[in-house]
Amino acid sequence: MSEHRENSIFVAGEWRTAASGATREVHDPADATVLAVVAEGGREDADAAIAAAHEAFGDGRGPWPATPVAERAALLRRVADLLQRDREELGLLESRDAGKTLEEGRVDIDCVTDAFRYFADLVAAEGAGRVVDAGSPDLHSVVVHEPVGVCALITPWNYPLLQASWKIAPALAAGNTVVVKPSEITPLTTIALMRLLAEAGLPAGAANLVTGPGDPVGARMSEHPDVDLVSFTGGLVSGTKVMRAAADTVKKVALELGGKNPNVVFADACATAEGFDTAVDQALNAAFIHSGQVCSAGSRLIVEESLRERFVAELARRAERIRLGRGTDPDVECGPLVSAAQLARTEEYVASALAEGAVLRAGGERPAEPGLADGWFYRPTVLDRCHRGMRVVREEVFGPVLTVETFRTEDEAVALANDTEYGLAGGVWTADAGRARRVAGRLRHGTVWINDFHPYLPQAEWGGFGKSGVGRELGPAGLAEYRESKHVYQNLAPRPVRWFKG
Ligand code: NAD
Repeated sequence: MSEHRENSIFVAGEWRTAASGATREVHDPADATVLAVVAEGGREDADAAIAAAHEAFGDGRGPWPATPVAERAALLRRVADLLQRDREELGLLESRDAGKTLEEGRVDIDCVTDAFRYFADLVAAEGAGRVVDAGSPDLHSVVVHEPVGVCALITPWNYPLLQASWKIAPALAAGNTVVVKPSEITPLTTIALMRLLAEAGLPAGAANLVTGPGDPVGARMSEHPDVDLVSFTGGLVSGTKVMRAAADTVKKVALELGGKNPNVVFADACATAEGFDTAVDQALNAAFIHSGQVCSAGSRLIVEESLRERFVAELARRAERIRLGRGTDPDVECGPLVSAAQLARTEEYVASALAEGAVLRAGGERPAEPGLADGWFYRPTVLDRCHRGMRVVREEVFGPVLTVETFRTEDEAVALANDTEYGLAGGVWTADAGRARRVAGRLRHGTVWINDFHPYLPQAEWGGFGKSGVGRELGPAGLAEYRESKHVYQNLAPRPVRWFKG
């Protein structure tokens, strides 16, 4: 039974339909049924939301930017409490909308909560700015933090609320006003968050939401002269369009884009049975959690040649056993892909890999089980004997597809791991502590895991080298993105400078 929320656009504290009256169906990826009907916003709706955010900012004197830092932090903590109050409901909504397991949905809500708490604590601890030594008792110099202004926040469908929270929490902590555009495929939890922000007491106009497609809604937000910053998480192609659209108005631009992330396994990590089991288990998790629809998915296994056959055989055996199904079924380990388009894209990449000589070791097809036929499911797939000449190794699939490459030396492993235009994340597995640090130091990726894969910390920066993006989310840098620094230099004993003698 679908829910109707045609008034899913939130502007200046009020819920609206799209100016055009258009709506969009949001689908349950487990069976392609309609989960909800939401407003399909357009350019006019984007303009209205930006106008509301601009007015609420009021040149930095609006109610939210003028709210003392300690009160802003307190509001973010109230939002965190409300998220926990609604954890079950929001976790379920995320699970159904994005097709992830219910447990993953719950974990997402906990991570969203952590982001709000982290930025509340950080902004409170950092305060209003710092005094700088100007070199004379007659001079007083301070650098103060000010909000950037109106922030356009554009998010993807794989971690809908989590990605939104990494932007909304620091942007609001810093005193900005925001316009949020969730992915048109998975807008439901972001709509719910807007209600929680209002319930927590955020002034009207400080946070606005437009549901609708990337073009025109996101495109308009990226080019609009009254938007001061655009923060985008999504694919490389859309990200470059955002950057181009933002150029004419010289907005601040933050991009969190894709990844083609290496997981490097040295044979010494698997010298014991326990080490082998751990490395295989984590390689499976790295590649297939959320059906591989993770920007940091370890989709390139780069394994030492001597270990290859044993490692890949066990990995393929376990991949074949992954239980697919609707995310709300407690026995299910992996949900569907988010859309028919994502399924078609995955099938196309696997076909291209096989045509280019890859050897299929697991998956490579849609599941045969009855009950899964209507959903966008694809079996976890392991492709052996891959190499850099193949599209599937170079390009982000964003599906449950793991490619296998091999190396003989440490130098070769590093060269392969760095041989990507992306640079988001990578893992290295070894029992040799020196080698672990050497390799980590040489990897050109924004996050490196040693003997682990996937964890992130809200207090540590997240972002990419190369085409994985511009800027950082989380950590102190994730708050700094949303701030201007203003240097106020005061002369306490002004005198003429007499540079000009006349
Ligand atoms: P996408 O680029 O298709 O869409 C992302 C968002 O951008 C959506 O809200 C979409 O409507 C909007 N958009 C599309 N075209 C636009 C345009 N011209 N102007 C402005 N906005 C536009 O990406 P997606 O398919 O939703 O998400 C998958 C991608 O996101 C993957 O490449 C993945 O790696 C990336 N991602 C990166 C991170 C990270 O932290 N680096 C995190 C999650 C996802």
